[in-house]
Amino acid sequence: LSDRLSGVFDKLKKRGALSESDVSAAMREVRVALLEADVALPVVKDFIKQVSGKAVGHNVLKSVTPGQQVIKIVHDELIAMLGGSADQEPPASSETLSLIGVPPVAVLMVGLQGSGKTTSTAKIAKRLTEKDRKRVLMASLDTRRPAAQEQLQVLGEQIGVKTLPIIKGQMATDIAKRAMDAARLQGFDVVMLDTAGRMHVDAALMAEVIAVRDRVQPVETLLVADALTGQDAVTVAKAFDDQVGITGVVLSRMDGDGRGGAALSMRAVTGKPIRLIGTGEKPDAIEPFHATRIAGRILGMGDVVSLVEKAAETIEAEDAERMAAKMRKGQFDLDDLRSQLRQMKKMGGMKGLMSMLPGIGKLAKGASQLDDKLLGRQEAIICAMTPKERRDVRVLNASRKRRIAAGAGVSIQDVNKLLKMHQQMSGMMKKMSKMGKKGGMRGMPS
Ligand code: GDP
Ligand code: MG
Repeated sequence: LSDRLSGVFDKLKKRGALSESDVSAAMREVRVALLEADVALPVVKDFIKQVSGKAVGHNVLKSVTPGQQVIKIVHDELIAMLGGSADQEPPASSETLSLIGVPPVAVLMVGLQGSGKTTSTAKIAKRLTEKDRKRVLMASLDTRRPAAQEQLQVLGEQIGVKTLPIIKGQMATDIAKRAMDAARLQGFDVVMLDTAGRMHVDAALMAEVIAVRDRVQPVETLLVADALTGQDAVTVAKAFDDQVGITGVVLSRMDGDGRGGAALSMRAVTGKPIRLIGTGEKPDAIEPFHATRIAGRILGMGDVVSLVEKAAETIEAEDAERMAAKMRKGQFDLDDLRSQLRQMKKMGGMKGLMSMLPGIGKLAKGASQLDDKLLGRQEAIICAMTPKERRDVRVLNASRKRRIAAGAGVSIQDVNKLLKMHQQMSGMMKKMSKMGKKGGMRGMPS
């Protein structure tokens, strides 16, 4: 696939804004990649249509091709669609499920036969017990498959989680009620209810799950689905969500060869989050869903994405360097300070700039304490000035300062503080540039 991609890229060498033909050429490759990852066809079509619209007109970074730029846009959209921003960390285990309610709360596990419901029930119970210090009771409502209830009991013994004693001949709804009563009496926090599977979406079994749901009012209803489910993922997810109403998805068998396109399909048709992924048969093999990782896996174009990210970083570094050069010459006006503030907001601190200017650790330390709010306020002050004022702060008399403070919604003291900071910074820059002339400074390109 990568070969085919670079073929497309070679044909798209020009720079500037992405044209419709740039985008559609690259999207043909994206389409193939998504289908190879087993994303359902209607989902692929919708996704491509939506992202194409956003990509046209987007600027192309220097040193990457339009095709590569499109891939990066697709990648970021994929992450957003899967439910996370590019730099978001996976949630802590207690945030994975929402277990708010008067205990005991019920978690209902539903899905097709063999999808991994029983295994996932035990995995989640173990996680909640160990990581979240919850008292968990498990109960199997699977009265169809022989020994299904015993399977959960054995798993419970393995992982040290209590299971409801088995009474043969009870109906699923009655077992569910018995589990909730026992949990209430014995002070459990969470009841994990494992249900009977079905080969296909089957009306009788669906009715059983609905009856259980109405009986226990679960806080979470998790659809367990095999990550290797291909085009079927849409049908299954839609049926369970429409009929039972799910709150999230657990994707099992992510340790397999599949690229996990089912995650995108299920998310797209239900709008419900993927909560956890199963990564093996062992009771520990479960992890919170990580949108960035899965997006990379589905698209399978990690090298292109990191290339574009690298290019973006280079450009930021070039900007910072240009700024540093200006500072060294002692020409540092408020327009420069404003773009610096914006840059700092983006980089989360002054570190980026300071790394270009060795020897001023003290200022860097103070600057790193600037929070976003302060940066935003300072930017607003500069924006309230006229271009002339920004170029030459000497014209700022009391009445101009009053006008600026009112315009930015801050006090005159805030305006003065900003001017002081600018003065200090440009003073320091001048001093450093003199030092530079005398001794020469390491790492300072001139
Ligand atoms: P159920 O019918 O939905 O209850 O499915 P089970 O929990 O009994 O799982 C069916 C089979 O899939 C078992 O052999 C499990 O060990 C296996 N399984 C479940 N989850 C995973 C997973 O995340 N990775 C792998 N490799 N196997 C899994
Ligand atoms: Mg089972």
